[in-house]
Amino acid sequence: MRAAHVAFLLSLSAVPVLAQSNAALMANDHYTRSHDYDLIHQRIVVSGFDWDSTSFQASVTTTLAALRPGLDSIILDEGALLQNTGVTDAHGTALKTDRHGDTLVVFPPAPLGFGDTLTFTVAYHGRVTSGDGLTFITPDGLPHRPRQIWSQGEDHNNHYWFPTYDFPNDKMTWELVATVPKEDMAVSNGRLVSDAVSGGTRTVTWRQDRPSATYLVSLIVAPLVRIHDTWQGIPVDYYVYRADSSRAWMLFHVTPDMIGTYSRLTGVRYPWAKYAQTTVADFFGGMENVSATTLVDWLPDARAYQDRPWYQHDLIPHELAHQWFGDYVTTENWANMWLNEGFAEFMPGQYWGQKLGDHAEQDYYVNEYQSYLRIDARRPMPLASLSSNNIYPKGALVLEMLERYLGPKRFWASIHTYLERHALGNATSDDLRQAVLEATGENLAWFWSEWVYQAGYPQFDVAASYDSTQHTLTLTVKQTQTDSLKADSTGLRFTVPAAFRMPLTVRVGTGQGDVVRRFEISARDQTLAIPGVMSAPTMVIFDDGNNVLKSLSFEQPTAWLATQLERDPDLWDRQWAIGQLAARTTDSAAARALAAAANRADYSLTREQAAGALSRFPAAAALPALETALRDTSAAVRGAAVGALGEIGGERAIALARNAFVTDSSYEVRAAAVGALAMSDSAHARQIITTALAEPSYQDAIENAGLRAIATTNDTSFIAAVDSMAATKQFPAFVLGALGARGSTHALELLTRHLDDNRAVVRRWALQAFRFAMPRPFALSRLQGAVDGLTHPDARQAVREVIQQLSAQRSGS
Ligand SMILES: [Zn+2]
Repeated sequence: MRAAHVAFLLSLSAVPVLAQSNAALMANDHYTRSHDYDLIHQRIVVSGFDWDSTSFQASVTTTLAALRPGLDSIILDEGALLQNTGVTDAHGTALKTDRHGDTLVVFPPAPLGFGDTLTFTVAYHGRVTSGDGLTFITPDGLPHRPRQIWSQGEDHNNHYWFPTYDFPNDKMTWELVATVPKEDMAVSNGRLVSDAVSGGTRTVTWRQDRPSATYLVSLIVAPLVRIHDTWQGIPVDYYVYRADSSRAWMLFHVTPDMIGTYSRLTGVRYPWAKYAQTTVADFFGGMENVSATTLVDWLPDARAYQDRPWYQHDLIPHELAHQWFGDYVTTENWANMWLNEGFAEFMPGQYWGQKLGDHAEQDYYVNEYQSYLRIDARRPMPLASLSSNNIYPKGALVLEMLERYLGPKRFWASIHTYLERHALGNATSDDLRQAVLEATGENLAWFWSEWVYQAGYPQFDVAASYDSTQHTLTLTVKQTQTDSLKADSTGLRFTVPAAFRMPLTVRVGTGQGDVVRRFEISARDQTLAIPGVMSAPTMVIFDDGNNVLKSLSFEQPTAWLATQLERDPDLWDRQWAIGQLAARTTDSAAARALAAAANRADYSLTREQAAGALSRFPAAAALPALETALRDTSAAVRGAAVGALGEIGGERAIALARNAFVTDSSYEVRAAAVGALAMSDSAHARQIITTALAEPSYQDAIENAGLRAIATTNDTSFIAAVDSMAATKQFPAFVLGALGARGSTHALELLTRHLDDNRAVVRRWALQAFRFAMPRPFALSRLQGAVDGLTHPDARQAVREVIQQLSAQRSGS
């Protein structure tokens, strides 16, 4: 699963555990659910979908085997809203049942012996709260939003639409038979068995022949066209709205190559009967339903590819990676979810590295690094812990580090062993360690303890001194990370290692060539002596090649940093050097180094970061390099240059930014120009914003830049224009909220009116604006003042729920 903007939070009643060090390790296995039967197969038959009442007709035939002797009651998860009309065994004999909340108890005719199988059918009238298990969407008068239904099982939501065992540690095969309006498609897992139109309906049968976890059962009902592709004879299909069919090939046709690359890297051929990618409305990002991934309906247009769309660069390869990591081998419980998400987040970097080279790979992980630091700053958590907040970026970075540590041959042999040992089954974090042990003979218990079961990362503080008589460079290395984590309400307390252990390399540049030494870092304070440095160093790279996930504080002369920026091939290292140089805004040597990197570095990310860093330097030092950067072949570099011009300001900078807005072919560069001009050219800010609001662009990049400028300049003269957009798009509601929070009662009144809109989606956008675009106490009091005046019953209910949530947040914990 991969969320675009909204973090997907887990909910699971946690098992309390004892406070102790390595708590995640000790607690991990407790989170696996026990069960006394083995689910073998389910046949799920659904029909009669009704969008108004969010209901349907269904029957589910389950075959299972008893896992203990004398099994006299079978407990399934089944949403309380599902109304059973009959439960019968294979002979049609009615079985006794019982319901408790979200569970169904079925009593077999006679107790089952160990290994005995039982088949029974639950017929029911299905009803869901839209969003729980199934989401029903009506067009609401908006463009690009056909009527549709999509399911979302992860983590424990599939039992809201069919009775099943709703936990990842029991795999089954299944068949899904859906009868839908004949103009709709019904897309599900596995191979297509049949697709027949009769009268006004279409009945589609899909069969998932190889076992997988029940949270991966998927159904999408929508008017879609199928665009057919293949990989080595396996169908690779893209299901999109007809209006998007011209965009689909350019976006999705990377998929077969990605399938081939992942198959080759893992040594495990793509394991499923087909691969479908289906786009739907209001989706949070992507979900890796086995062989049938669901994705948000944001297909880039041709021009958007200049801006390296997240959809193709991150989302498609992430969900595809789950077909191995998550679907073929599945986490045994949600406390090991990083085995799903860490690998899925890791693999796109491997794909782009294979496709475009080392820099593209490093570029991907530098981006992960920045996300990781932001998350870790809020709360450091281990990878292997329930509801861990950083399983995506930290998972990717730790796997990348493991790959560097083992080397590619040993790493991929280990991954192959892991996938083969647990094929079509489940795994825990320790199973991955065992696979490395089997494939390489190396026991990485220390690595798992530091990076999987404990929190944090090494924060290095390094100082250098050179002894010219001894020809020795000495580095004093401190690890300064602190363990200030507190126990949570269950007594669980995570630990941060006082000292991380890792091998790393120091590279010292000299007039006579580089001196390279390898060290084992293992203590909180360490002194590293590097003999043979025959003349004064010209640069010092601590952890050459960036093999350790870390932060680095290392005061260096500008000349060393400039040399490193020019010579060091590693993008993380270069980013670090740029960060050091960026602070030296009165140092002309620093400006020269950044200008050279902005114009001549051999990879776009370095040019982009150097151009951005020039924004803090005097115009005379920065402008020539930024002007050159505006002609860069990379839109990201041009965008950074435009942004820097906005901060520098002045006539020349404004003229350049305006020219970029008018002539640049990239949406993102033009969006950056809107922000830059609104900030630096107040005389024409209104004009540029007005133009921006009317400019079509992918994901409304330019329009949103105009809206953002309205919010940042607090220009209330645009309120009517913003309001007119709030009926069809989400972001304008946020701008009304921001203006309201800064004192505009008019903006607040208009936003409040949208709370009562006839269309559910418009109401939801308005409510989210209260939640996320204004301070909590302010939002709370405004919603409390507004709720009784609302006339739409669903609106009142939704607002009351948010009031409760905001009140609960205010009152504590
Ligand atoms: Zn994912």
